[in-house]
Amino acid sequence: MTRKDIIRFDSQLDLTIPSDEILSKKRGYYVYYNIPNKLTHTLMIHHHTCGHCKYGTGKIKNALKGRNGAWIGPCHSKEAMVLIIQDIFGTTPEICTCCV
Ligand SMILES: [Zn+2]
Repeated sequence: MTRKDIIRFDSQLDLTIPSDEILSKKRGYYVYYNIPNKLTHTLMIHHHTCGHCKYGTGKIKNALKGRNGAWIGPCHSKEAMVLIIQDIFGTTPEICTCCV
C-alpha cells in the first residue's frame, strides 16, 4: 500500500465503526528501533501514514514482530517524540523526509 493509499484509507475511517475507532487511536508519530543496526542507523521519526511505518506495523509483510526491533509510538507530535527519544536513548532522532 503506497503512502497515497494509506492517506486515503486514513481519511475514510468511520469512527462509529469499532475497528476504525481503534485504528484512529494509532494515528501519530512513530520511531523504529532497529536492534541489529542500532549503532549505525539513526533513529527516525515517521508519521503513521508513511509507507515505512503504516500505523506502526512496518513495510515488511509477515515480519516476525520484535525480531529485529520494534515500533515505538504513537506520539501526538513530532516534538514530543523527539523529547521521548532523547530521554530514552540520549540521541536526537531524524525526521523522515518521505512522510513528515
Ligand atoms: Zn517516514
